[in-house]
Amino acid sequence: GDFNQKIDYVFKVVLIGDSAVGKTQLLARFARNEFSVDSKATIGVEFQTKTLVIDQKIVKAQIWDTAGQERYRAVTSAYYRGAVGAMLVYDMTKRQSFDHMARWLEELRDHADKNIVIMLIGNKCDLGSLRAVPTEDAQEFAQRENLFFMETSALEATNVETTFLTILTEIYRII
Ligand code: GDP
Ligand code: MG
Repeated sequence: GDFNQKIDYVFKVVLIGDSAVGKTQLLARFARNEFSVDSKATIGVEFQTKTLVIDQKIVKAQIWDTAGQERYRAVTSAYYRGAVGAMLVYDMTKRQSFDHMARWLEELRDHADKNIVIMLIGNKCDLGSLRAVPTEDAQEFAQRENLFFMETSALEATNVETTFLTILTEIYRII
């Protein structure tokens, strides 16, 4: 329709990270303002879109979610193709999911465009008492690897909008 014709940009952004860190729920929160407690391993839908305005331009964010392919090296290169942004998600209550960020980053850098904008996301900040990854550890990693960094809660909708807006705005800034 008329609205479609006015879209100025489509930005493909991929979600990556270990299983159960909250990728699907972050996307559900951003795209539909929904959250589900018993979210099943993602099946079916490859991506969701949300259209927003950045600097008076209409931007369609096309956010891709892994369909249970989180095993190391199981995400195919098709998943990364054309991506201008990547969100590297760990669960701040699961140290291992943070320790795996280096692998995910390596995989991303092997497959994606070298100018891709990357954001490190520590999800589940609502579970503060179970925290296993200090903010400073993540900040240090992000700084060293030149990533944006944010802590979020898909459950409580903390920083979710800000996180997506930050990466999309940065993509817009550099294209
Ligand atoms: P994915 O495998 O990375 O897509 O993870 P999911 O989005 O399916 O989430 C895995 C589990 O963590 C589900 O039980 C979610 O309800 C839960 N979850 C996701 N995000 C949060 C969050 O921000 N806080 C809490 N407490 N639980 C979350
Ligand atoms: Mg999922």
